[in-house]
Amino acid sequence: MKKSFIFIFVFGLMVSGSLFGQEIEVPLRFDRYYSYDQVNEAMQALHQKYPELSSLDLVGYSEEDRAIYALTISNPKTGDHLSKPGVYVDGNIHGNEIQAGEVCLYLANRLLTRYGENEQITSLVDKNSFYILPVVNVDGRYHFLEDANTSSSNRSIRRPKDDDRDGLFDEDFYDDLDGDGNICNMRKRDPNGTHRTDPYDPRLMVRVEPGEKGEWILLGREGIDNDGDGRINEDTEGYVDPNRNWGYNWKPAYIQGGAGYYPLSGTGLKAISNYLLDRPNVIVVWAFHNAGGMFLRGPSTKDESEFPSADLSVYDYLGDHSEMITPGYEYLVLWKDLYATYGDFTGFTSNIIGSYGFVGELFQSSSETYTLNENLIKPGERTQQQGKEDASHQRMLFNDHVTQGELYKPWTAFNHPLYGEIEIGGWTKMSSRLPHPFMLQDLVHRNASAVIFSATQTPEIKVELMDKEKIGKNLYQVRIRLVNDNAIPSQTYQSMKNKSHRKDILKVTGSSISVVAGGELRDKHMNQAVYKEHKPQIQFIHIPGFGKLEYQFLISGKGTVKVNYSSLKAKDQELEFNL
Ligand SMILES: [Zn+2]
Repeated sequence: MKKSFIFIFVFGLMVSGSLFGQEIEVPLRFDRYYSYDQVNEAMQALHQKYPELSSLDLVGYSEEDRAIYALTISNPKTGDHLSKPGVYVDGNIHGNEIQAGEVCLYLANRLLTRYGENEQITSLVDKNSFYILPVVNVDGRYHFLEDANTSSSNRSIRRPKDDDRDGLFDEDFYDDLDGDGNICNMRKRDPNGTHRTDPYDPRLMVRVEPGEKGEWILLGREGIDNDGDGRINEDTEGYVDPNRNWGYNWKPAYIQGGAGYYPLSGTGLKAISNYLLDRPNVIVVWAFHNAGGMFLRGPSTKDESEFPSADLSVYDYLGDHSEMITPGYEYLVLWKDLYATYGDFTGFTSNIIGSYGFVGELFQSSSETYTLNENLIKPGERTQQQGKEDASHQRMLFNDHVTQGELYKPWTAFNHPLYGEIEIGGWTKMSSRLPHPFMLQDLVHRNASAVIFSATQTPEIKVELMDKEKIGKNLYQVRIRLVNDNAIPSQTYQSMKNKSHRKDILKVTGSSISVVAGGELRDKHMNQAVYKEHKPQIQFIHIPGFGKLEYQFLISGKGTVKVNYSSLKAKDQELEFNL
């Protein structure tokens, strides 16, 4: 494997922050969310506790000059990290999707704390290199937790943009009118309104039917007209979508909203792109987002053709297992089952880095259940109870009785400068797309397990001498077998189709031998080999998943023969024998 020249800036973070007054300790805890600073402290704490198995790399800086870090986890005693199949995992590219960062931290914590204790994990840290970058959008994570937000706001790259074309940048954000740290909804009493109070839960509203009297008019998200242009909340942060700004199949904003002015205009994204280009050994990529409970594979758009069928078998194998590891999640295709995304991250990694890539959409709000017990329904209450069976009522009861009301803000009167007497209320910032902290442990463990499963399937090539036979004076027929017991081949078929990465090389050398002929052995019983015309001592090969490859060489001479297998993605192998 060719070792790229890499700049690794190991940055000595001061462990100065605190989590509820305590220093962050290893093993990390997953019953709460980490702030941006605490994520960095947690990575530093892991690295300090396991310096021999990890390195902490400064990848680059964001628009607002926040540092982006990645942990490399691999046992250097079993080889340089670039020599092993790389598994890259990141999260939180959208600023509000914070539990994705916790999945990454949990994976790092699990690999390091279970090394030497758990046989499977020990072997993975020996044979693989894990590149774990918990927070892609560091500004986004910082502002999501620090500022008032909805559960869906604050996704962008923090590059000011004049959304309403009035010459001012980001001048009409949401406003936390009641100062509770959430951007909720506004409503006003209006007999001609579009909604009325839900008969089963007065906190919810239902749309009025034609002919029905209304009760409420909805006024959107909490805010005022900051710039006096007659519109509210129309120029918030950005918007450049960090998952539409990558350097593969990028399209400008008139085709793909949030694309940015040119690919990789995001400074943090550019740094991460370079980080990945410096790691040509990466063969599996996971990018965690929220929400919905999905494992998405490419292609990202319809205009890209489908992946080669042999790659689909690999995706299906990993995707099907991920579904089973994470009950309720579905393995789907990005453009077909969700929507088209030009210039997205996994399009970049599948086509430029040459990896198998999954987007993990974490969390299903349907897991927030409060299912009524049929036996508790008294005669005559049937209709009343049935009304509470739908998802919105269940979630409200889940909020009331399982989180003690922490996910929903009750409607409260407020005097708005424009609308007068209104009410503010609704689902809070930490609801809807994020699990309540008590459910976080299960989410991070299962999703990290899907990553770990994919790592078990990275290529492990064994090179064997099948047989050697003297077939003439000083002439030998030598057969070599290359075996891969795992699902992932030594290179993606997409990268072979694109001709974007070199193939594996099988080389036969020796000081007192010469290779007369060499090529793939198609049928060993019929002795059918397809010999390469020039330089038979060097063969360009590719080893399938769950498969093998057999090569035949005719070698003249005597003495030691060296067989070298070299791959960008799989670990290099050597074999020596005598003639
Ligand atoms: Zn996302």
